[in-house]
Amino acid sequence: MADITEPASEMTADLETMVSLAKRRGFVFQSAEIYGGFAAAYDYGPLGVEMRRNIRDLWWRNTVQERDDVVGIEAAIITNPDVWRASGHLDTFTDPLVECLECQTRHRADQLEDNTCPNCGARDRFTEEREFNLMLSTHVGPVVDESTRAYLRPETAQGMFVNFENVQTTTRKRLPFGIAQIGKSFRNEITTKQFIFRTREFEQMELEFFCRPEDSFEWHDYWKRERLRWYLGLGVRPQHLRLRDHTAEELSHYSKATADIEIHYPWGWGELEGIAHRGDYDLKQHSEHSGKRLTYFDTETNEHIVPHVVEPAVGVDRIMLTLMMDAYREETLDNGETRVLLKLAPAVAPVTVAVLPLSRNDKLQPTARAIWDRLRPHFRSQYDDAQSIGRRYRRQDEIGTPLCVTVDFETLEDEAVTIRERDSMEQIRVPIEGVVEALQERIDALRPDVPSREDVVIESSS
Ligand code: ATP
Repeated sequence: MADITEPASEMTADLETMVSLAKRRGFVFQSAEIYGGFAAAYDYGPLGVEMRRNIRDLWWRNTVQERDDVVGIEAAIITNPDVWRASGHLDTFTDPLVECLECQTRHRADQLEDNTCPNCGARDRFTEEREFNLMLSTHVGPVVDESTRAYLRPETAQGMFVNFENVQTTTRKRLPFGIAQIGKSFRNEITTKQFIFRTREFEQMELEFFCRPEDSFEWHDYWKRERLRWYLGLGVRPQHLRLRDHTAEELSHYSKATADIEIHYPWGWGELEGIAHRGDYDLKQHSEHSGKRLTYFDTETNEHIVPHVVEPAVGVDRIMLTLMMDAYREETLDNGETRVLLKLAPAVAPVTVAVLPLSRNDKLQPTARAIWDRLRPHFRSQYDDAQSIGRRYRRQDEIGTPLCVTVDFETLEDEAVTIRERDSMEQIRVPIEGVVEALQERIDALRPDVPSREDVVIESSS
């Protein structure tokens, strides 16, 4: 079984390699590049959107559709500012900010090494720390003054809390049950150096799982295991993954316990996902500020209780970067050339099958196109006839396409095609008649193993 306690090993890809591949192949572009870009904003290209869609769909299927105890919502991004007053974001959603007295650049005080300015190298030359609120604000309606100030949500979670009563009444869910949401969030981050790891606009996938207080720590453990299993199922290498419990000093004001799923990034261990035990903090806060009772009526005891909440929360963008980095390999071939490949699991790869006619020869095109037509309803597929076949294989390897189907002159005689596997580069000949089944068989064989829930180790590595 996958052992996440194995010693960590280095990722093969550094950030620069990843940024360059992402741009060259159409995963991620600098936003508004023709105008010189925009700080920490990125646009997703044709392959990037496919991959993000796969990540979202896999999360939604796993977290909502395959379960009978979780339902989904989509809440507004710009909402009543009272929500942020009640949640504590207006007062406490801050990072400590300092300004360098030498070069006037601003930094997060808790991220400085040796109290040294990362821009000019000056040491101990900073202003006093001040708390900087990370919420981005705007004005709603035709009047621009303090009375119309509103905020872009910095997390999707509050949408679930303020809709708790609506969801409960309309779905008649019994405890334990969860409410899930995928959507954009915004934070005016102070430092954003790591590509799509930390951006000011990003997409979150969050689940608020409501349960009885006495069962809440058990559910916290349950979700740690479930979430680790999900990443192993996406093919993340166990030696790049660990679980770390927050220390008492690190815990957010609302949290009774938090564990982060961390990844061994090229710059060190970093948070991929947080799994927080939020207790009854949010429902109580909203109840107090709105004057509405946000409780659950327990028919067994005839009592109103305030459920406790376990929250697995992660960013789509961060998962995408993680999967690409983790999948990146450079191999030296027998002829001395280097082959770059992304060993992405078929479920997340932007393209599952590429159809490649050996050349643009007129005789091959109709057959190759007919095969593509046959595959499209079954797989995310791409037709590629530009450049030499060798270069097209390299391109498909680099974008993580697990399987290629090659159509050659023999195909016209024997009605068979070659399936080429990305990882082993093995080639097999299969009849066109059975190509869909043959491809599916290989895709199934490439699916990463997922340990049972009991077999997942959740001891903290801290
Ligand atoms: P960090 O410590 O990295 O700032 P956080 O602890 O503030 O993150 P949470 O509030 O727990 O993050 O958000 C849950 C998840 O949302 C994170 O684990 C991460 O995957 C994602 N996320 C948070 N902030 C950003 C961001 N600025 N850019 C991209 N993803 C983000």
